[in-house]
This record gives sequence, structure tokens and C-alpha cells, in this order.
Amino acid sequence: MSGQAYDPNNIFGKILRGEIPCHRIYEDDDTLAFMDVMPQSPGHLLVIPKVPSRNILDADPAVLPKLIPVVQKLAKAAKEAFEADGITVIQFNEPASGQTVYHLHFHVIPRYEGLPLKPHSGQMEDGNVLAANAEKIIGILGN
Ligand code: 5GP
Repeated sequence: MSGQAYDPNNIFGKILRGEIPCHRIYEDDDTLAFMDVMPQSPGHLLVIPKVPSRNILDADPAVLPKLIPVVQKLAKAAKEAFEADGITVIQFNEPASGQTVYHLHFHVIPRYEGLPLKPHSGQMEDGNVLAANAEKIIGILGN
């Protein structure tokens, strides 16, 4: 495989190993979902596979079908929890595309008519706000 190797010391690798905290929303055998600390819109969350890959370019194709149903489940839950008009799903690969954390992830971002996204990797959100937002989505998932 060409391209750069996976670095296990990336932030999401550390979250998966429990070395740094996250505001967890959902977890199963293959995936983890948690709040983005620099949300581009309230409710911005990330879905990652547990197995390591840098991005979609080096991912095991067998992993991808495990991720998309979780992305869909959380897109629906976030849309309802945040009374959004729509949901943007984004996935970046390599720096030229805007990727900044090198563990495969899908962004799930609630959207509102006429409201632009805040900057990518912009301002850090307050931890209490992230915790409350995670609870809103968890509440919908529990229904
Ligand atoms: P990328 O640019 O790689 O697609 O996106 C990485 C995302 O991870 C960004 O939206 C950024 O806000 C988010 N992020 C960066 N560091 C952390 C962190 O320590 N915890 C969480 N939960 N998200 C992070």
C-alpha cells in the first residue's frame, strides 16, 4: 500500500485506547461515535472504526459497511435531537483535502436553512455544552 503509515498516537487512537476522554454517544464492537470538540454546528459528531486506518484510502473494505449504518443512525438521531433542517456528512482524506486527524472518521453535522458552517477545526466548545449535546443524541437513540 502506498502512502503514509497509520500513526497509533493520533488523537482518535488515544480516545479509542481511553488515554484521553471524549463525549461518547454510541459504541458497538466495530465503531465509536463522540462529539467533535470544535463543532462546526451544534451537535457535530464523529463516527470512527475501532480498527486502525489513516483514512478511506488505506481502510480495509470490510470495515466500511460497518460504519455507514452507524453514520445513518446518528445522522437521524442528531437531526431529531437538534431539530435540524438537514445533515452534512463529510469525510476528509490526507492534508490536501482538509484532514487533520489521521484515523478514519466521518463527520455528522446538523444544518439549518441559510446558516453556513462554522470553520473546520475552529473554536473549542465548552465541555458542559458538549456533554449536554451528547446526552440529547443519546436520549433520541434510547427511544
Ligand atoms: P479532520 O480535519 O481530520 O476531518 O477532522 C478532525 C476533527 O477532529 C475536527 O473537526 C476537530 O475539531 C476534531 N478534533 C480535533 N481534536 C479533537 C479531540 O481531541 N477530541 C475530539 N472529540 N475531536 C477533536
